[in-house]
Amino acid sequence: MSVSQQSSMSVTDAVQNPLVDRYGRHITYLRISVTDRCDFRCTYCMAEDMTFLPKRDVLSFEEIDSIASAFIGRGVTKVRLTGGEPLVRRDIMALVERLARHLGSGLGELTMTTNGSQLRRYADGLAAAGVKRINISLDTLDEARFTAITRRGRIADVLDGIDAAAAAGLKIKLNMVAMRGVNDDEIEPMIAWAHGRGFGLTLIEGMPLGEVGIDRVDSYLPLKELRDRLATRFTLEKLDHRTGGPARYVWVKETGGLLGFITPMSHNFCESCNRVRLTATGQLFMCLGQEDQVDLRTALRDGGKTTLDAALDHAMILKPKGHDFVLDRDHTAPALQRHMSVTGG
Ligand code: SAM
Ligand code: SF4
Repeated sequence: MSVSQQSSMSVTDAVQNPLVDRYGRHITYLRISVTDRCDFRCTYCMAEDMTFLPKRDVLSFEEIDSIASAFIGRGVTKVRLTGGEPLVRRDIMALVERLARHLGSGLGELTMTTNGSQLRRYADGLAAAGVKRINISLDTLDEARFTAITRRGRIADVLDGIDAAAAAGLKIKLNMVAMRGVNDDEIEPMIAWAHGRGFGLTLIEGMPLGEVGIDRVDSYLPLKELRDRLATRFTLEKLDHRTGGPARYVWVKETGGLLGFITPMSHNFCESCNRVRLTATGQLFMCLGQEDQVDLRTALRDGGKTTLDAALDHAMILKPKGHDFVLDRDHTAPALQRHMSVTGG
């Protein structure tokens, strides 16, 4: 068991009615997609012409807060806001500040995954609210390539946002989806760039989620292959650092920084899974790669707190043992129709 699992278990032990699934996994981590909308259309994540949810279907901040509070009351110690792009939701800081009141009383960490485009505006506010660390997605350092991958983003905004986050004292981890023939020639430069600035870097394998209008098979790059390549260039020291999620970490001796690998396609990480995901419409997904879901919005709207608590118990029964993503050469359709921006990556 990792240190993070041990510490979260001791917290959940102090909770009266902790969330434990059928396989004995303690649920201590809630990821909340606050919107399915985004100012980018990354090729691997969204189609060019995405249809977004009608605003009336999206949970209000009060509802998100009620659901998050119920989870925290049942032993969730970490909440991550994601999306879509969380910072494009109007008035997002009101939600951050509201959830931050739990920090120190149940909630150990409030964090966010963002594309960084709005960080210049929000970095100070996030730090002031008690956010200590954030993940920022950056797949390339090349301006033209960045615009091609995001279909509309400007790298200058993101780099400026990263500077603002660093200046605000936020600890930064970069997420990079590694794609063959797209950005696989930039992995080593990105490691040097990120570690040179004191940021961690996590490489992610592309996942077949949602129709995006491109063929993912050609760009699929197994991270095992990449790791072997990096090992010829760098000394990769294995670390026991685990987050209960799919990432595995090494310390890169030459650059003095943390390098993570998220390998959902080629590595089974489900046995230690400690997380669940809330969509912007209040559906709780127990697994990124399965369809099982529980409607927490209806539970909350129709029944209130007691019904919501019962729905969380039901979710623990439904949480599957694991996912079964497959990307096969003959079937290029996505493994799931749901986009990552719906469940929150
Ligand atoms: N918009 C924010 C961002 O890009 O960081 C947060 C949401 S985004 C869905 C979260 C993460 O999921 C990003 O790091 C993104 O690169 C990753 N992602 C999106 N679609 C993916 C896919 N099909 N396979 C692997 N990672 C994906
Ligand atoms: Fe938007 Fe993030 Fe998806 Fe890119 S990965 S389209 S930034 S939600």
